[in-house]
Amino acid sequence: RSNSGNSGNVTSRIAGKTEDTLDDTTKRCVEYVDLSLDMLCGPDGELPEKLRNLEPRLLEHVSNEIMDKDPNVRWDDIAGLEHAKKCVTEMVIWPLLRPDIFRGCRSPGKGLLLFGPPGTGKTMIGKAIAGEAKATFFYISASSLTSKWIGEGEKLVRALFGVASCRQPAVIFVDEIDSLLSQRKSEGEHESSRRLKTQFLIEMEGFDSDSEQILLIGATNRPQELDEAARRRLTKRLYIPLPSPDVSGNEEARAWIVQNLLEKDGLFKLEKEDIDTICKLTEGYSGSDMKNLVKDASMGPLREALKQGIEITKLKKEDMRPVTLQDFEHALQEVRPSVSLNELGTYEDWNKQFGSLS
Ligand code: ADP
Repeated sequence: RSNSGNSGNVTSRIAGKTEDTLDDTTKRCVEYVDLSLDMLCGPDGELPEKLRNLEPRLLEHVSNEIMDKDPNVRWDDIAGLEHAKKCVTEMVIWPLLRPDIFRGCRSPGKGLLLFGPPGTGKTMIGKAIAGEAKATFFYISASSLTSKWIGEGEKLVRALFGVASCRQPAVIFVDEIDSLLSQRKSEGEHESSRRLKTQFLIEMEGFDSDSEQILLIGATNRPQELDEAARRRLTKRLYIPLPSPDVSGNEEARAWIVQNLLEKDGLFKLEKEDIDTICKLTEGYSGSDMKNLVKDASMGPLREALKQGIEITKLKKEDMRPVTLQDFEHALQEVRPSVSLNELGTYEDWNKQFGSLS
């Protein structure tokens, strides 16, 4: 093995024993950890300096669970949001592709906040940024740091930033960032969550946007809970709204989601007027609501075929009729919009006060 020196270290650190004295299960675990650590090793087969003091178990978790080798989302997969795409390209993708030009005054900043109702494409944008900028994508949900990694969150955060710094250019996407950087609880704040927050802010301060190509993207449905320190670090704040008509009043985004999903599955038979009707009936639906609606509507032909007595095991694709407007009308009774009008007002107010409108 190229890094047999490290394997020895890992082995003894994990088990406190030499390799010959381990039982089979432990050997397999050690082997697994070694494999993910191999991916982090340099050409000399050694772990980079920055990672040597970090726990192999956590490095392995970052490498296997948090690092996404193939985010597989392109700009074209995201309906609407033209304004956000344009801003993100200029603020984030160009700097990641041409760090030599984007330094000094043009330095892009370290943090981007995507805020807005749930299910509007924030995670998709994060993944698309990584794809377009050919960057390594790291995804972590801040609430898992506070709930699942109790007491270990700080160490995991250090491992995350450590690995990202060895895999540049890197995009670290922190979902539900409000649960990490919230202004609540400052009085009786739990000691461990306060430490976690401090560690996170230290790591963010720690990388130099002129020399390191690491971008932190925070996503939240509750921007109003972020405190001043968080806002200061997330210098660009983009509102990701519900899919709505474009400037000329076309219901482009919702229609696009319906067409695209149906076409992908070869179920596309709806006329333009039907699509227009669906769009009119789905005012206030998020991208994710639209996806659920299409899923439900596409069950219509299947349910009908089964009602006619065809057994599910014998059912052929040709036995099912195409999806129709009526299927959507039925589905609309099951799938309701998940965002209320009141909530939208809160986002718009916050956007006016703190959003990057340009
Ligand atoms: P968020 O991170 O804003 O909560 P996601 O990006 O996870 O939402 O979106 C959830 C799902 O909803 C996506 O996997 C996608 O299928 C659908 N979706 C949401 N917004 C869009 C959009 N603008 N274009 C296409 N699909 C979308």
